[in-house]
Amino acid sequence: MDFRDDANLDASQVEDVGGSGGGGGGGGFPGGMVIGGGGIVSLIVLVVVFVLNNLSGGDNSQPAQRQPSSNLSQQCRTGKDADQSEKCRVVGVVNSIQDYWKTQISDYRPSKTVLYSGSLRTACGAASSALGPFYCPGDQRVYLDLSFFTQLQSQFGAKGGPFAQAYVIAHEYGHHVQDLLGALSEGNSVATELQADCYAGVWAKHAVDTGFYDKPFTTSEFAEALDAAGAVGDDRIQQRTQGRIDPESFTHGSSEQRVNALNRGYKTGDPAQCAQSDLQ
Ligand SMILES: [Zn+2]
Repeated sequence: MDFRDDANLDASQVEDVGGSGGGGGGGGFPGGMVIGGGGIVSLIVLVVVFVLNNLSGGDNSQPAQRQPSSNLSQQCRTGKDADQSEKCRVVGVVNSIQDYWKTQISDYRPSKTVLYSGSLRTACGAASSALGPFYCPGDQRVYLDLSFFTQLQSQFGAKGGPFAQAYVIAHEYGHHVQDLLGALSEGNSVATELQADCYAGVWAKHAVDTGFYDKPFTTSEFAEALDAAGAVGDDRIQQRTQGRIDPESFTHGSSEQRVNALNRGYKTGDPAQCAQSDLQ
């Protein structure tokens, strides 16, 4: 999957907040034992420390563990950058996905992807790499820890590759589309997940039309996505983590259901073919 060298990236759709070092958001100030005899003075000192902490991005708590945030708008300008760096590739994928959905939804509101590492506070509670990527309706953002892609290969046995990563991102934006269409809270979580897979396939079909890619995805690239979809099916995840399959606790659907949903979206290229009632 090659980006067009001269495609213009919009890096404002992706925010790289770096590593949190474990605390999750807003720098930890040395609270607890404060406010003794010092009263107002120590309170003021604390407020100043807190404000400075936040102004500096709160990044002075655990310097050894932190990964720096980066300014993607300087690094990721063109499709060429997207072919060369993982973070810029995320920018290119996110741009292409949202450009497609803009053509389908008249009042489409863009959703940012937040790249982080370790843990992070979000409107949906604490994010951590162990959770995998997710879409948060509370702040309409996609949260992604890039280490998930390594995990996809090592833990879930997917072959991986750029297109598998693009599929994962397109699935999360599928949830954003559902959110905008009011379909996120219809109740059936398996059908919701399968619809997001189907939407990912629809985008893949139209990816070249968005102007970010120079040629359609190849069969082997699409196979990467199917492989990833199969690898993160709940039946496989459960087999790996518990050694048995418990269909009662499925939330994403079986590997076969996910592969079918993605294929359906890709073959039809039509979001209307992704009705939740048709996907189970
Ligand atoms: Zn999902």
